[in-house]
Amino acid sequence: MILVSGCLLGICCRYDGSSRPNPDVMALVYRRNILPVCPEQLGGLPTPRKAAYIARGDGFDVLSGTARVLTVKAQKDVTDAFMRGARECERLARLFGIKKAILKSRSPSCGLTVQTGVTAAVLILAGIEVLEAG
Ligand code: SF4
Repeated sequence: MILVSGCLLGICCRYDGSSRPNPDVMALVYRRNILPVCPEQLGGLPTPRKAAYIARGDGFDVLSGTARVLTVKAQKDVTDAFMRGARECERLARLFGIKKAILKSRSPSCGLTVQTGVTAAVLILAGIEVLEAG
């Protein structure tokens, strides 16, 4: 089973209520067992919601307490919700014995290469192979 960012499967869970369906990722549904998740929704945030970013670091820095997640305009601190969602994803991954995740690029939760998101960092530290798709 693979844990996948819900927006890559066409689920409208992005901050602006849109999705980012990725044909290659969606094709996996026919070959593998897929667990779609949206960490920000699992953390209790609404959809749509305010866009957010990681200030002064990446997801690993958020976990160590040296960076925070803030909304773009109002600079409201939403770190706790992002942490809660990341931990819920980790809980689901452990429950289903998941060893691999495909997460959405350029997201403060799911991003990997440009800036590692909070959920990506939690899953990496849990020993899960994390891949990225746009
Ligand atoms: S990138 Fe991650 S947190 Fe953002 S909408 Fe997609 S699944 Fe949810």
